[in-house]
Amino acid sequence: MAASRYLVPLIAVIVIAVLALLIIYPRLTAPPAKVLRVGTSPDFPPFEFIDEGGNIVGIDIDLVKAIAKRLGYEVEVISIDFEGLIPALLNKQIDVIASGMTITEERAEVVAFTTPYWEADQAILVAAGSGFRPQSLDDLVEKKVGVQSGTTAEQLVHDYITSTGKSIDVKSYPSYVLAVVDLVNGRLDAVIVDSPVAQMFVREYNVEVSAIIRTEEKYGLAVRKDDVELLSKLNEALEEFLNTDEWMQIIDKYLGG
Ligand code: GLN
Repeated sequence: MAASRYLVPLIAVIVIAVLALLIIYPRLTAPPAKVLRVGTSPDFPPFEFIDEGGNIVGIDIDLVKAIAKRLGYEVEVISIDFEGLIPALLNKQIDVIASGMTITEERAEVVAFTTPYWEADQAILVAAGSGFRPQSLDDLVEKKVGVQSGTTAEQLVHDYITSTGKSIDVKSYPSYVLAVVDLVNGRLDAVIVDSPVAQMFVREYNVEVSAIIRTEEKYGLAVRKDDVELLSKLNEALEEFLNTDEWMQIIDKYLGG
């Protein structure tokens, strides 16, 4: 029969076509994964820092990835100096700030914060063995003090200077790591930084905490004020997540040991 000569190739073609469709079709129809662009300043261990492999890691990164996953988002982490985070959020380069950012009234006028997920005070760091033991900002008058630009620590020192009329030689750095390196090298007398981060710098550099300044700051993630739906979704997922074992494991991974 003439037709049977074509039957085998025909079936083969049909089978291949169906297989090809089965492979391609889901890709054509699956909705693209929603990407959440997360901005962070990775100089703030254990919340965000760069590991030996050059990756941005830390408590904030794991936290935001975990809650984004619950909401069906993929996360793209974008490194931005702390001072540039709010501008980057407002001009839509990023969708979320996850950077140990303290919820302040001033910031809450321009961005929307989630429920707090961490509490911190400020610490005065000094070079180990320097013999200099400042106990308060008064002890830093006429000294060189490093902070990161745009932080609550910078604000604290500026407010002290304005309210007392005394002088502190404040040096603002784009990154806390650079400030700590200058402290170790003797170019600064002290660095003021959030207390949990100070503890990590003590582990990694030849520095020590000489005093804690109680500021009772609370960290939140931040989104644009008009991203009302994203904020409520993040809050719902965050509040749930803070009660999970996974959250305890993240904390333990970065702070334990
Ligand atoms: N918590 C401080 C602030 O919000 C410092 C944050 C940071 O340097 N990443 O200003």
